[in-house]
Amino acid sequence: MAGQIGASRVKLRNEVLNSSGTLSETTRPRKVHVKSFGCQMNVYDSNRMADTLAPAGYSETADPAEADLVILNTCHIREKAVDKLYSEIGRIRVLKEEATAQGRDMLIAVAGCVAQAEGEEITRRARAVDLVVGSQNYHRLPELVARARGGERVVDTEFPLEDKFEMLAAPAREAIRSRGVSAFVTVQEGCDKFCTFCVVPYTRGAEVSRPVEKIAAEVERLAAAGVREVTLIGQNVNAYHGEHKNGDQATLGALMRRLSDIPGIVRLRYTTSHPRDMSEDLIAAHAELPALMPYLHLPVQSGSDRILAAMNRRHTRADYLDIIARLRAARGDIALTSDFIVGFPGETEDDFRETLALVDEIGFASAFSFMYSPRPGTPAADMEQVDDAEKAERLRRLQAVIVRNQRAFNARFAGRQVEVLLEKPGRLPGQLVGKTPYLQTVQVMAPRAMIGTVAPVLITEIGSNTLFATLESAATAALATVGA
Ligand code: SAM
Ligand code: SF4
Repeated sequence: MAGQIGASRVKLRNEVLNSSGTLSETTRPRKVHVKSFGCQMNVYDSNRMADTLAPAGYSETADPAEADLVILNTCHIREKAVDKLYSEIGRIRVLKEEATAQGRDMLIAVAGCVAQAEGEEITRRARAVDLVVGSQNYHRLPELVARARGGERVVDTEFPLEDKFEMLAAPAREAIRSRGVSAFVTVQEGCDKFCTFCVVPYTRGAEVSRPVEKIAAEVERLAAAGVREVTLIGQNVNAYHGEHKNGDQATLGALMRRLSDIPGIVRLRYTTSHPRDMSEDLIAAHAELPALMPYLHLPVQSGSDRILAAMNRRHTRADYLDIIARLRAARGDIALTSDFIVGFPGETEDDFRETLALVDEIGFASAFSFMYSPRPGTPAADMEQVDDAEKAERLRRLQAVIVRNQRAFNARFAGRQVEVLLEKPGRLPGQLVGKTPYLQTVQVMAPRAMIGTVAPVLITEIGSNTLFATLESAATAALATVGA
């Protein structure tokens, strides 16, 4: 099989040469602008797209108007994703026409989950699009782009036989530095759980995990370039089961134990987790590993067992509460966040009240909440729908309860000392922005040279989305930090 892949790549390489005329065409300096929609996995993918195009002569630009290639990295999780994509293409098409008028070629590529789901339909509906590449194929971008430059309209959405991560170019040191001291690393992709509302198993494919040592090598590279915090990401990150060097299967806990030994990495996080995969081993890692931050995003979706069953979540409200109790026993100060869907088909007022009660019972530090959005091809799209006005009203009520809980959580920090990873300059001169272990944003006056360090700060004021702090002196730096 490997031989077949190799042969087809040679053929493709020749096609690249034939279609673009010369190799220098593909290596001439050009600019790429990648616009990300949706989740952190898309942000990671967008960075890797830019990394993979760098050896082909593409440097990143934040300005689409000066780009030779604009990539729209799409998300399909909720409604209007397709509408949003076409209106974005409309905006970029104007820039493309301006570039053409100046005698410059601009290519438009659509990547990610909408590309995966819509495929060729995109090039039919939007003639300005030159290239459509699915979420598992973007390692092929240099070849696909060269073919598009040769005048071909390219669509590549087949799930590939080769491993995308093996084929991707490693990021250059300057690229890592430009992205800051906190980085995402994909360790797991895809999903086999098939919640009845969700499109991910169809757009991202079956669940796969990367080997431990490949991830460790990527994290070592990030650490050597100045990254201090790594968030391990995956659609179901805690279903991680990558291989150790000896072929044994690793858990997410084992992976984090390995990564916490890497010099320079002072903070580890992971997201997004599924309650069913919250193993004892992972809960124990929260007690054991100082680098693992006391924070967990654990989507529950609903507080009603009837709705959880209809969603095919395969956990109950009691299961969820039991996991939270075990997590809190392991790490008393852990901050918990979640995702909720309101107005899932068949959700009654009583079901919804169980969701409201669950938020208060747990006391989430924050949460995302969404109106149920029927996704074509998923089972729940064919169930009897809740009225849109009712959904909007429930969302408003749920968000009010979430905000109340978030304020209560943050209020506990007034006058306390916490450790903040200082990440980047703030809006005011002399100000830095950082994160607490509990993922709260903190603004503090501090010298720029402190970016990348973990500093003790005193929380002086609680804003609605930000905490304000003063830097603690060297003497107070020795004080033990407090928990939530
Ligand atoms: N794998 C994670 C889990 O099982 O909890 C969630 C991943 S999904 C990309 C992120 C969130 O989008 C979900 O937790 C859910 O709340 C929301 N979501 C997914 N499909 C949705 C839909 N059809 N309508 C509304 N929200 C949806
Ligand atoms: Fe979607 Fe998460 Fe359910 Fe998988 S587990 S189907 S990604 S909501």
